[in-house]
Amino acid sequence: MKNGNASFWLDTTRDLTRQRPRIDGDLHADVVIVGGGFTGLWTAYWTKKADPSKHVVIFEREHIGFGASGRNGGWITGKTVGLRNKLADNGFTRADVLEMERTCQRAVFEIDDLMRAEGKDIDAARGGWMQIARSDSERERLKDHLATDREWGLTEDEVRFLDAAQTRERVNVPGVRGAIYSPYSVRCHPAKLVYAIAELCEDLGVTIYENTAVVDIDDGVCATTRGSVSGDVVVLATEAYTADLPGRKRNLLPMISSMVITDPLPDEAWETIGWDGSECMSGAQHMYFYSQRTADGRIALGGRGVPYLFNSGFDHNGELDTATITQLTDTVQGLFPRVPMTFAHAWRGVLGVPRDWSPFIDYAKHRRLVQVGGYAGQGVTASYVAGRIVADLVHERETEHTAVPWVRSIPRNWEVEPLRWIGSHAVRIMYGIADGIEHRRGGTRTSRIGSLATKISGRS
Ligand SMILES: Cc1cc2nc3c(=O)[nH]c(=O)nc-3n(C[C@H](O)[C@H](O)[C@H](O)COP(=O)(O)OP(=O)(O)OC[C@H]3O[C@@H](n4cnc5c(N)ncnc54)[C@H](O)[C@@H]3O)c2cc1C
Repeated sequence: MKNGNASFWLDTTRDLTRQRPRIDGDLHADVVIVGGGFTGLWTAYWTKKADPSKHVVIFEREHIGFGASGRNGGWITGKTVGLRNKLADNGFTRADVLEMERTCQRAVFEIDDLMRAEGKDIDAARGGWMQIARSDSERERLKDHLATDREWGLTEDEVRFLDAAQTRERVNVPGVRGAIYSPYSVRCHPAKLVYAIAELCEDLGVTIYENTAVVDIDDGVCATTRGSVSGDVVVLATEAYTADLPGRKRNLLPMISSMVITDPLPDEAWETIGWDGSECMSGAQHMYFYSQRTADGRIALGGRGVPYLFNSGFDHNGELDTATITQLTDTVQGLFPRVPMTFAHAWRGVLGVPRDWSPFIDYAKHRRLVQVGGYAGQGVTASYVAGRIVADLVHERETEHTAVPWVRSIPRNWEVEPLRWIGSHAVRIMYGIADGIEHRRGGTRTSRIGSLATKISGRS
């Protein structure tokens, strides 16, 4: 099995990407974007769409899609992003928060439609998302979750409960007890999506510089490794990697998510498994997993491994530790114990988690700076929505997109070390224990340790 080299998605599609220049010397642009992931790219796309005359440049330290955008689970999803209570904190109503979720739901299909209209093949398939329960406690948690969704206004058409038989009709996971299902998800190949957006940007006249790191930002001026760049506005779209920039170590926690992918499974295996509806499937255990059936008949699955590296560290080109590989391959095999399978590739990436687990678009006009991100692992659709909001803000256009709960100050910093490290590792251990207790004990109750871990992480 291959380990690292960014990700399976990037590793196997390098021939599809264009060569892009480094910056050479100083320049000025109307909008300077730091980071060539989904957020930077969608921001550039929407900015050019709103005003084709704007000079827009993107600076990417490595290459397009090097970060989470080229390594993720490929869920273009309308799942709730952020914590609703936190987003309603700043004078917004429940209806405002719900409308934001509906914007994301619509965005799922807008992205798919746009790619089709532009003739971009991103291996997209519309199958919705489904979170499955394999114990009574997991099923009860899902029902509680659904009850909360109803309180906030989501309808039966938007998310609903499936009983065990209905769930098995979609994906045949032995012992499954039920699921919640929503039609708002499209499965895709994330690297193909990144390349496609980059090409759309370039066709609109955006210049993308690769291998060009921004090392400091000060009042509209970015110092790079190869020259200085000034912008009327600078958009910081570095998500988890923001921790690398001076003075920003504790803005966002670089949380690790890890993935494995099987070799293509034969037709007999798919006859046993089903899963011909292309649902994005996750699990309701505390040691959460997310997965997709790929266009070429593999299972790609991700989840929690080592959650965080000391002092906001990053992975080395996606390389994964052996214990996490075993944990993830066991999870895939545990879902389909009767299906023989081999694994092709393992990797990991970092996603940006703000202290209140909720996205932000913070426009400090006097500093000519927009900071955007913090999707906490749900950024594929959210970055499209956020990029459109940023474009409106920098064009000084007050639209229905700009007076929304995501437009707010960046949340307070994370704690100093070793507290971040202790907290994230403790939470992971506690979730593992909680799953073990619930599995052994049976019954419908969530273990207290599981609830405590969620509280400690700040996600409740
Ligand atoms: C394993 C994994 C699975 C995931 N699965 C899903 C999923 O299925 N669905 C979903 O919605 N979300 C998922 N996510 C989260 C999602 O991928 C992210 O939220 C999203 O990609 C963030 O995009 P971004 O552009 O903000 O950040 P990134 O994609 O991380 O891009 C930031 C870019 O900035 C560049 N950069 C950093 N510092 C500098 C600098 N100083 N100068 C210039 N460039 C710099 C980096 O090289 C990087 O390319 C997953 C994340 C991971 C890691």
